[in-house]
Amino acid sequence: MSILKVSRLGHPVLRLESKRVSKELLASSAVQKLIDDMMETMVEYIGVGLAAPQVHESLQIAVIESHSARGAIPMTVLVNPTVTVLDKELIEDWEGCLSIPDFRGRVPRVRKLRVDALDRKGNKIQITAEGFFARVIQHEFDHLMGKVYLDRMPDLKTLCHLAEFQRFWLPQEDEDE
Ligand SMILES: [Zn+2]
Repeated sequence: MSILKVSRLGHPVLRLESKRVSKELLASSAVQKLIDDMMETMVEYIGVGLAAPQVHESLQIAVIESHSARGAIPMTVLVNPTVTVLDKELIEDWEGCLSIPDFRGRVPRVRKLRVDALDRKGNKIQITAEGFFARVIQHEFDHLMGKVYLDRMPDLKTLCHLAEFQRFWLPQEDEDE
């Protein structure tokens, strides 16, 4: 496995709508290795989610895992995800992003959703998620659609450098998505 280079804000790949992955492509050794490498890259950089455009691949693949106090999430691979909102109540909380290093901002996200996707073997999966898990799914789904969390911020005044965020806003653990 390899740790991949993470694309940063300004790289055009982050603004593309990613391509759906055919079952044949998903089964290929290249894409299976990509998924392994995305997992390793996410863990290396202490992320809770990573989408393929963040490693310069414009494909609808995301990996998610969290051991955070904000919510534990088992290692999850989402291929070609679609999101159905189950509770459109918006909850605002802090987010960060490996592609926008050392910043945090407040982002409203819907409280509860269902995601329909394929797992890495091409099996259909359906996950109902709420709270932090739902937030991470929305963040990663946005990446696949060419969006970043800054696009979702209603007020850029909450955008903080990490050091100032930790000093003035939230002196506890946090991580990037
Ligand atoms: Zn991100």
